[in-house]
Order: sequence, then C-alpha cells, then structure tokens
Amino acid sequence: MKIAFRVFAGLLVVVVITITLFLLMFTPAKLDVPAVDVGELPAASPPAGMSIRALPTGSMESRAAFAFRGGTWNDIRQFSMTALLIHHPKGDLLIDTGFGKDVDEHVKRLPWIMQKLTTYSKGIPAAAQLSAAGIDPHKLAGIILTHAHWDHVSGLDGFEGVPVMVDAAEMNFIGEKTRNTELLNSFKDINYKQYDFEGGPYLGFPRSHDVYGDGSVVIVPSPGHTPGSVIVFVTLPMGMRYALLGDLVWQTEGVELPSERPWPVRRLLGEGDAKVRENIARVNAISKKFPRIQMLPAHDARAFRMIQTLSATAK
Ligand SMILES: [Zn+2]
Repeated sequence: MKIAFRVFAGLLVVVVITITLFLLMFTPAKLDVPAVDVGELPAASPPAGMSIRALPTGSMESRAAFAFRGGTWNDIRQFSMTALLIHHPKGDLLIDTGFGKDVDEHVKRLPWIMQKLTTYSKGIPAAAQLSAAGIDPHKLAGIILTHAHWDHVSGLDGFEGVPVMVDAAEMNFIGEKTRNTELLNSFKDINYKQYDFEGGPYLGFPRSHDVYGDGSVVIVPSPGHTPGSVIVFVTLPMGMRYALLGDLVWQTEGVELPSERPWPVRRLLGEGDAKVRENIARVNAISKKFPRIQMLPAHDARAFRMIQTLSATAK
C-alpha cells in the first residue's frame, strides 16, 4: 500500500511539473531583439491607377495564447484568410489565395490537434470574388505566395494556368513533398514561376525582388516559418505603404511587443526559430522607424480591416 501510494504521489508530481512547464511556454516573454539598421525609405514610383483590394475568404477562430507569447487564453482572435489583389497597369497580382471552395476537404488534412484547437468559417473564394467583380481570374499576371502552407493556397483552384510565384528556397521546400506542402502538391499542373532576389538591400533585408521595376511591389526573403517565406512591400500612388508579413507573426503584437509564437506551436509548425527571430527584429525596427508602414500579418483580421474589400468597391 505504501509503495502504491509513493508511485501515485511520484506520478502526480511528474504530471504537475509537466503541466507547469508546458504552461510556462505560453507565459509573456518579450523577444529581446538586436538593433537593426533598416536604412532610408526606399524610392518607389507606383503608377497612377494602381490600387489594392482585400478579398476575405473566411477565417479561423483561435486563442491569442497560441498566436504570440503574452497572448491570453480568453482572448479569442479571428484569424483572417484574406487574399490581396494588386491592381497595376502592367498586370494584376494576387498575394496568397485564402480558402478555396474545397476548404472543408482541406481542413481534414490538418493534424488532429490543430483541428481540435480551431474552428473555421467559409467565405467566398478569391476566384469567385474576382469573377463577380468582372475580373477574369485566369487573366491575372501572377499569384505571389508568401509561403506554401495549405491556408495560403487552398483557393488556388480557379486560377488554372496563372503563374504561381515562389522563390528558390520555397520551390525546394515544395519539392521535398513533406506534410507541410501536401495540399499544394495535390494540385495538378501548377504553373510555378520562380524568381530570384537580384535586387539589393531593402529596409534591413539583405536582398530584394522588384516585381514591376517601379518599386511599387518589392519582395524580400523572410525565412523561418518556412524556408522560402517572403514579405511583400507594397507602395501605393498616394504614398501609403504596406508590409505583407505572411506568417512571420500571426498577430500584430508579434511585431510590436515583439513576441514569437509559443514553443509548442513553433515545434508543431517545424519553424526555424533563429531565422524567425532575425526577421521579427527587422520588422520591429521598420515599424519603429517608419510607423506609417502598415504591418499586415496574414492572419490579423484587425490589420486587414484598413483595406477596402473588392466586393465593397465593385458594387
Ligand atoms: Zn497561415
């Protein structure tokens, strides 16, 4: 009896310690980022008539505690799944696709734990929103992926033949055919268009790719969340500037505090922690020096509310 009690007490101690350690990983911890010289505001000459529109395609509901260290358990956040349309005289681009018409099937491919921790709601897929606004989805000049995860490519069907723009590192990652890119690899005949970072430093990032050659849309490498994740900087004719951060952080607090995702979440995602931190340091420095650059984490619904939706302007 005594031995049984001791075993029970020992197990109880182990369980309590494990749960405590696990919860500690979610406690607030400001990321200690080094100073980054982001240089001067890069020149840009966006053409008259260039504009951006948001295409919300659905959302997932999750807790702030999962999104960044310091987020609380009772703070429920809507994770937006929004594609961004860039209208440009040289050809229209889409950044990410959000949820597609088959999202119910796509969600079933997620790890069990992720399915249990989130609920989602569907909107109108990006291709259908474009068609409703009189824009032929198949005539887009390209779709820039911030990275190849399922929630950014779920809406790719409906854009058959449109160039899907990725950098060399993400192309490699897709080629490895791991679980992380299973959905993208399930689509047939994707017209990948690989680009290089042939341009010089940009706002503290070592290299860049100027899509139109006028500084209006500039892509920089932001590895960590996935090996070839990118950030897309957009400058409009009126001077407004945006940084589409992809999933470098999930909510704006990640940039502002700054703060990284809790350890268990990072492991579930298979991230490169040091690289993510390096890029959080860069965007944190940018937002301090140039607070008017709007930071748009792909899943921060509050940040995307600043941008007019295509459906609202097409009416
Ligand atoms: Zn995502």
